[in-house]
Amino acid sequence: MTQDLFRTDAYCTECTATVTAITDQGIVLDRTVFYPLGGGQAGDAGMLVLADGSTLHITDTRKGKDAEAQFTHEICHIPASDGHSSLSVQDFCRQRGLQVGNTVTARIDWDRRHRLMRFHTTTHLLCHIVPQLVNGCSITPDYARLDFAMTDPLDKDALTAAIATLVAGAHPVTVGSISDAELDANPALVKSMSVQPPRGSGTIRTIRIGTTTADAERIGTADLIDFQPCGGTHVANTAEIGAVVVTKIEKKSATTRRVVLGFAG
Ligand SMILES: [Zn+2]
Repeated sequence: MTQDLFRTDAYCTECTATVTAITDQGIVLDRTVFYPLGGGQAGDAGMLVLADGSTLHITDTRKGKDAEAQFTHEICHIPASDGHSSLSVQDFCRQRGLQVGNTVTARIDWDRRHRLMRFHTTTHLLCHIVPQLVNGCSITPDYARLDFAMTDPLDKDALTAAIATLVAGAHPVTVGSISDAELDANPALVKSMSVQPPRGSGTIRTIRIGTTTADAERIGTADLIDFQPCGGTHVANTAEIGAVVVTKIEKKSATTRRVVLGFAG
């Protein structure tokens, strides 16, 4: 089990951790600031700093899988092979002197992660601007795309202007949670047809955009911009999104409109 520090603090850029396993899926730590691919958001990149001060570059992060391809509670850090692409992760780590039980510093590529956070929060703003079900989502450091199940056309400039207004409004973004029962009673909170919130632990993590007054603790308050289950990393305030624009709208199919986001300039 890897403790996922990014769930409570998306701004935590590094931590010390102990290597608990080295498998062909990657390096497993007891705790980490690296977000694993999921919910449409790309996995983090960065580095592990070893005890001797040398660094091991991490190119991607994934959730661990068991023999039945089911996700485990382990987070796997995939090392760059430094040109030794024929080496297994185990052999590569052995060559670099990294062993289970070692203490390392795990440090994410913050510039890259911050772009992912800015895009992820923008996709939630789009859920408010375009109140349609989402049937696809991909968030990368360079662009993001959100697919809406709808047949009406969308206007690129109007969407960009609506995003800019919400960014200028400097609305707080807060992490919370609701119970499985609350979610069952409010099924419309789930805006994605393709990503179902993880159930089973009793509570589901939520992201709220809009006022944080006590009144807003009630689901469905008028000042709320968006509230939905989400496991991703987000900026703390919409002002931090900066200049994100809609670069393209595609008619992906007869019943799907794709909105592509990019950074201006
Ligand atoms: Zn999300």
